[in-house]
Amino acid sequence: MTTTQQAYGEDNFGFSTEQVHAGEVIDAEFGARITPIYLTAGFVFDSFDHAEARFAGQDGGLVYTRYANPTHTAVEAKLTAMERGVDSLLVASGQAAITVALLGILRSGDHFLSTPSLYEGSKTLFRENFERLGIEVEFVDDPHDLTEWKRRVRPNTRAIYGETIPNPKNDLIDIDLIAGFAREEGLPFVIDSTASTPYLIRPIEHGANIVVHSASKFLSGHGASLAGVVVDGGNFDWAAYPEKFPQFNTAIGGPDRPGTPTLVQKFGRKAYLEYTRSVIAGRLGPVLSPINAFLLQQGLETLSLRVERHCHNALAVATWLEQQPEVVSVDYPGLASNPSHAIALKHYPRGTGSVFGFTLAGGKDAARTVIDAVELFSRMSHMGDVRSLILHPASTSHAHLKDDQRSALGIGQGLVRLSVGIEDDLDLLADLEHAFAALRALQPSATQELAPV
Ligand SMILES: *Cc1c(COP(=O)(O)O)cnc(C)c1O
Repeated sequence: MTTTQQAYGEDNFGFSTEQVHAGEVIDAEFGARITPIYLTAGFVFDSFDHAEARFAGQDGGLVYTRYANPTHTAVEAKLTAMERGVDSLLVASGQAAITVALLGILRSGDHFLSTPSLYEGSKTLFRENFERLGIEVEFVDDPHDLTEWKRRVRPNTRAIYGETIPNPKNDLIDIDLIAGFAREEGLPFVIDSTASTPYLIRPIEHGANIVVHSASKFLSGHGASLAGVVVDGGNFDWAAYPEKFPQFNTAIGGPDRPGTPTLVQKFGRKAYLEYTRSVIAGRLGPVLSPINAFLLQQGLETLSLRVERHCHNALAVATWLEQQPEVVSVDYPGLASNPSHAIALKHYPRGTGSVFGFTLAGGKDAARTVIDAVELFSRMSHMGDVRSLILHPASTSHAHLKDDQRSALGIGQGLVRLSVGIEDDLDLLADLEHAFAALRALQPSATQELAPV
C-alpha cells in the first residue's frame, strides 16, 4: 500500500495559510499535490490477519467509505484546524450534520433548549422529526435573558442549540453568554456556524462545544454541491456526567463487557466525535460523496478571500438599501442602526456575513416587483454562493407558517432576503437600482407627491 506524506505540520499560521495547507496530504506514489478524489467504496486488506486487525481498529487503517475515506480525512483535518477543534466528521448535507451531531448526544426521553431564531429546516427537523423520536425541543423567547434559560432547564435537558448569524433577521446571539450558561449547567452547546464560517468567528474559542455547518454554503462556496460537517471542540467533560451521557461512559460494546474501556477512556477528548462517526453517522449512513468532499476542499482554500468580499459587498448593499425611501428596515448588523450592532462589533470584527433581509413598505406586491426585476441576482433559496441570490421568505421558505407565526419571526410580506455574492459591488447596486426603478414606476413612493386628479 502507498504511504502518504503529511505536508503540513504547524498550527500557528494565519487563517489564509491554514485554509490552503492544513490537512493536506501529498500522495507518495505519484506526488499529487492536491488530495485526490478517492472514489472507492472500500479498501483492500493485505491478508487474513490484516483484515482481522482492521476490523478490530488496531492499525487505524481504512475499511469502508461509510466510516472513513482519504479525501474526507484530508478535508476533515483542514476543517478541524480552521475551527480549532480536535476532530471533524463530513456528512452529506448540513441537515445530516445537525441530525447526527444532536443524535450523538440525545436519545428518546431527552429535552434540549434552542435559541428562537433558526434556519427553518432545523426548526421543522426538531419539531417534527425529533419529536417522533421522543426528543423534545424547547425554544427560549429571549436568548439574551439568562434567567429564562435557567428557568427552562429540566432534569432531562441534555443540550443547548443555537446559530451564529441567523437569517433572514440576523438577530445575533451572544455566544459567550450562552456558552457560559451551558458550562454552568453541564450541558454541551452545539452551534450552527453556517452563515459565519470560521473566518468570521470560531465558536469553540468562545466556549461552544460542537460546531456544525452546512458546507453547501460559504465553505464550498460555488453552489455546486451539498455537504455538512460536525466539528468537535474536545472541550466538554463527558466523563463528569456519566448519568446524563451514558454512551461515552459505559464499556464499549455494552455494560456486560467489563474490562473494556469506555469511549472517554479510549478516545479522550475525541470521544464524542468517535461515537458520532462510528455509531451514529456510520450506521444511519448519510455519507458524503468523495467528489463533493473534493469540491469542498477546493472551496475551503479560498474561503477568507471570498468571505471578505461577501462582507464588503453586503455592507455596501445594506447601506444603499437603508437610504431608499421604499425600505422600512434592513436587518444587517454591520449597520450602526441595527439592534445587533453591539454584538457584531464584539463577535464579528471582520464582518457579519452576507445573508440578510430587508423590508419593503409596499408588502408582497413590492417584493414581487423587485424580485422579478433584478437581472444579476438569481431567484433562489440557496445562500453563501459566489453569485448573488434573492428570495421572498413569506411565500417560499416560510410559506408553511401561519401569519402570526411569521410576524413573531419578523418575516412580513414585504421582507426580501438577499445572499450577496462576490460580484463587483457597483454592478450589484446598479441591478438593485434598476429593480427599485421598476418599483417606483408602478407605485408612487411615500416621498412622492400624488399627482392631483
Ligand atoms: C442551508 C442550511 C442548513 C441545511 O444545510 P443543507 O446543506 O442544505 O442540508 C442548515 N443550517 C443553516 C444555517 C443553513 O443555512
